[in-house]
Amino acid sequence: MSHPVSSDRRRFLSRIALGAAALPLLRLTSAQAADLPHLSPDDPTAKALGYTPDASKIDPKKEPAFKTGSHCGGCALFTAPASGDFGACGAFSGKAVNQGGWCRAYAAKA
Ligand code: SF4
Repeated sequence: MSHPVSSDRRRFLSRIALGAAALPLLRLTSAQAADLPHLSPDDPTAKALGYTPDASKIDPKKEPAFKTGSHCGGCALFTAPASGDFGACGAFSGKAVNQGGWCRAYAAKA
């Protein structure tokens, strides 16, 4: 018997993986990244991944996946903007995230 939550979670995680795999093909220029609308923490996908625009407010005891000091600016899925703090993110197509933010899809740059 399949569990609906597990199935949804699996589907969601595979979409994230596909998005990350396609990132090099879809990478926006820094100027394009700066023009995207900002991702709201209330967005359903943002909530599912625990996105916050301010990583400094994360309590590592409540968010075990968070490593102190990690933030969007150091994430492989982040495209830095030409100016400002918000850039594109491979996990949230069409939205800009704060480079001081964080979510559970964080992947440290190699
Ligand atoms: S931590 Fe990475 S994947 Fe998560 S919102 Fe920031 S840039 Fe995107």
